[in-house]
Amino acid sequence: MADDKKLVEAITSMEEDFAQWYTDVVKKAELCDYSSVKGCMIIKPAGYALWEQIQQQLDAKFKETGVENVYMPMFIPESLLEKEKDHVEGFAPEVAWVTHGGLEPLQERLCVRPTSETLFCDFYKNEVQSYRDLPKVYNQWCSVVRWEKTTRPFLRSREFLWQEGHTVHATAEDAEARTIQMLNVYADFARDVLAIPVVKGQKTEKEKFAGAESTYTIEALMHDGKALQSGTSHNFGDGFAKAFDIQYTDKDNTLKYCYQTSWGVSTRIIGAVIMVHGDDSGLKLPPKVAPTQIMVIPIQQKKEGVLDKAYALRERLLKSGFRVKVDDTDKSPGWKFNECEMRGVPFRIEIGPKDIENNKCVFVRRDTREKTEVALDDVEAKAAELLETIQKDMYEAAKAHLESHIYSAVTWDEFCDTINNKPGFVKAMWCGEQACEDRIKEELTATSRCMPFEQEQLSDTCVCCGKPAKKMVYWGRAY
Ligand SMILES: [Zn+2]
Repeated sequence: MADDKKLVEAITSMEEDFAQWYTDVVKKAELCDYSSVKGCMIIKPAGYALWEQIQQQLDAKFKETGVENVYMPMFIPESLLEKEKDHVEGFAPEVAWVTHGGLEPLQERLCVRPTSETLFCDFYKNEVQSYRDLPKVYNQWCSVVRWEKTTRPFLRSREFLWQEGHTVHATAEDAEARTIQMLNVYADFARDVLAIPVVKGQKTEKEKFAGAESTYTIEALMHDGKALQSGTSHNFGDGFAKAFDIQYTDKDNTLKYCYQTSWGVSTRIIGAVIMVHGDDSGLKLPPKVAPTQIMVIPIQQKKEGVLDKAYALRERLLKSGFRVKVDDTDKSPGWKFNECEMRGVPFRIEIGPKDIENNKCVFVRRDTREKTEVALDDVEAKAAELLETIQKDMYEAAKAHLESHIYSAVTWDEFCDTINNKPGFVKAMWCGEQACEDRIKEELTATSRCMPFEQEQLSDTCVCCGKPAKKMVYWGRAY
């Protein structure tokens, strides 16, 4: 029996050391592994299956709004990257360069894309000629490379997977509408599929994307009270269009500059799923995104008929559209329970000789560990019901955690005290000056997460400098 506990004992408790807990879960749930390329990760089957669920469901949502997928080269000529000044300044410090093709030095260095605005612009310059060519609403699923100094699985790695949408429009209004539309797609996806509540808002000038006119973000709160930027949507105005000369002939026969957007979600969001829902037994996956929704665990599986019954159960559940597996390995049931919990399977079905005799089985929820006896005839209906309940309860639990970790501060002392002692978001008024953001970062290692769409007037003065306040900002420490 000692063996049964090994998996669980091997992870550090969240309260003791959250960072170590995270590393342990990633490893024990077999989501990813380190590779011999420093700062790059190997995404293992359990992690990749989770990414595939995210990818497929998000892609379907994109397509409902008219998005089409394309694929761009992974290399960007140096001259192209340099065309938009703010953009290159923002990305230059973390770009990886290709200098040789085979044995020959290249005439022009190529960077490995850190993001593809410049490639899309170079493409749209030729692709867009007339108002009839607009809008173009393209997206690509790919990997990008950013030479980060410190890395952590899913949260920050030198190469990571993502999608980047790049659109081009006739008017500023169209571009703004698309920017907000995609932010809402992300927020709805986080809420409805990942069971993660988010705060929606706009980034400050200091925190916005390099080259953007405005950046919008969804911010989620992790279990330890730190924020995680989980998706961003940028409105470029006509800045890139002017730098790349992307013009179209309008109906009135005049030449006009286009307006553009870009938006992205990366494998970072897997980090959010882990840190919002997980507990000391491991991962907890919301049913909608769980690669395996139900694990059937046979008890005394060597007894005649038990395995057959477990397989029959799997067939029935598969037929009803559930993602289900049978753990028929020769490990002990206790070990299988632990493993199933570690991997975050939303619920397991236990079935043994006694259950079969009574024409029933037992459902055990991962989130609450609640056990229910279910008649074998009712399995499909009860499974559907339970998955829906778990999805809803997980969202409610995350929402309650978020709401109980949003504080507000009016004075500087109050603000410092809250940031230092109460992990979470702190709402406070801000004058709009970067100097105050810099001071807050310097003294409290907190950053402005966003200026939420839902503004409140907490006071008339900036929490930092006392000058007249312009915006209410969510502040916090972040990943
Ligand atoms: Zn100020």
